[in-house]
Amino acid sequence: HYPDEIPTSIMYDEKPLHAFLEESAKRYPEKKALYFMGKEISFSEVYRQARKMAGYLQSIGLQKGDRVAIMLPNCPQAVISYYGALMAGATVVQTNPLYKERELEYQLNDSAAEIIICLDILLPRVTNVRGNTSLRHTIVTGIKDYLPFPKNLVYPFIQKKQYNMVVRAEQTDDTHVWNRIMENASDSYKKIEVFPKEDLALLQYTGGTTGFPKGVMLTHYNLVSNVQMCQAWLYKSKVGKETVLGVLPFFHVYGMTTVMNMSIMNASKMILLPKFDPGEVLKTIQKQRPTLFPGAPTIYVGLLNHPDLNKYDLSSIEACISGSAPLPIEVQEQFELVTKGKLVEGYGLTESSPVTHSNFVWTNRVNGSIGVPWPDTDSKIFRMDTLEEADIDEVGEVAVKGPQVMRGYWNNQEETDKVLRDGWLLTGDLGYMNESGYFYIVDRKKDMIIAGGYNIYPREVEEVLYEHEGVQEAVVAGVPDAYRGETVKAYIVLKSGYKLDEGELNKYCRKHLAAYKVPRLYEFRDELPKTAVGKILRRQLVNEEKDRLQEN
Ligand code: AMP
Repeated sequence: HYPDEIPTSIMYDEKPLHAFLEESAKRYPEKKALYFMGKEISFSEVYRQARKMAGYLQSIGLQKGDRVAIMLPNCPQAVISYYGALMAGATVVQTNPLYKERELEYQLNDSAAEIIICLDILLPRVTNVRGNTSLRHTIVTGIKDYLPFPKNLVYPFIQKKQYNMVVRAEQTDDTHVWNRIMENASDSYKKIEVFPKEDLALLQYTGGTTGFPKGVMLTHYNLVSNVQMCQAWLYKSKVGKETVLGVLPFFHVYGMTTVMNMSIMNASKMILLPKFDPGEVLKTIQKQRPTLFPGAPTIYVGLLNHPDLNKYDLSSIEACISGSAPLPIEVQEQFELVTKGKLVEGYGLTESSPVTHSNFVWTNRVNGSIGVPWPDTDSKIFRMDTLEEADIDEVGEVAVKGPQVMRGYWNNQEETDKVLRDGWLLTGDLGYMNESGYFYIVDRKKDMIIAGGYNIYPREVEEVLYEHEGVQEAVVAGVPDAYRGETVKAYIVLKSGYKLDEGELNKYCRKHLAAYKVPRLYEFRDELPKTAVGKILRRQLVNEEKDRLQEN
């Protein structure tokens, strides 16, 4: 199905990921690389600051392969730290700025990071755990380092009134202040030889929905190949001409590859938004006119339900790939209507850098499918718990193979052996391939509900709920039930001002679903718990339900 413009195989550059920054800075030195709340920074300046960071890290003892943790939301420092650390020869460990001390301590110990770069307001958290970890140095930066007087402060961790009260860190032997580095450090650093297929660029801890956190080992080659595939897929996007909306967090592999690394490679201007605020995103689209907008379904849903949606001009948007969770067809159609651009569904996971499948953006697209495997990526469906290939249309576990697939989990051969089998990555997702070679995700292995002996895939029920005009967000989970083992429960967020009761919704579901799939329980909420990339945390809801049952 590949159109002529997309190659089925690509000669990937065997070079370090950070070579992209050097190349773009040399080719387009004056072009704007970053836009952050009114401030713009050119490619040559990002490159200069990344060199300073690289040299400074080396001056405080960083050796090739040492881990550098980065705990920042989307801001210029996140991009500069990431590329600077790679240039210095480090392996980056991305840390979610929302991590509490327990999670942070676990990740720092597991990765044995010796240096962390964090935001000043997160410093107390780092200081509290530091003694229990192998951290030797902390580099501290603040939003003020780039924006002395932000006009429009939308910041995930800080209220406007607290902004001026942030305590600046003092420079000591083991605490280093960002501005001093940028003012005083030399912009030369020692170039480190990188073997792209062996050397780790990244230890990426997998998202909260997949169980106990494990460090995914991704090499330079893994990341370079996934970015080059992305560029090939979006073949109409032109080097040096695009503007990319960066609302997906870069500390998650999805935003990191499709927004940050892709923009650096493609010399695009990246609009940095440190958190998802629908009103702010709409305003930014109108003013900054991004052409590419990678996102997640909850992000598109959030925008579509903004009361002032129609007041904004979103016509600059040309292509969006939605990943991380199923994209309801309703959402896709509505979003394309308001933007006049294309929104297609893709699929991937941390273990594969992340993208492995996507629908075509401009041709041969099949709604409701995750599309076809990307160039050089093989995908199969295995019968459950075997390596036997399933038939066409038969549901099994999705497996992938390709240059973007991880080396394994850091220090965890046992878990690695469970998912990497004969070179295939077992994704833990259930899906099937139709006779035209398009793939469909039905659900996650662990999310399938077994109620009274029937298998129910939450996604199918959710699709029906999303089609109801009053439903803004919906998630369906299997909760414990004395008679049926599990029973289907729907958690619903209604569109603002819409009135709907359980009885009406139940009647609607009965009309569209086989009786055994119809939710027996409904709960209306103001919002649903989500991960950093907007994936709804179904398991958290199930655990809440279990706790509630135990209390009773
Ligand atoms: P993460 O490792 O945090 O990127 O999460 C990867 C997981 O997100 C996959 O294993 C899937 O369960 C889920 N996922 C990603 N894209 C999709 C999609 N288009 N449809 C359904 N699930 C998806």
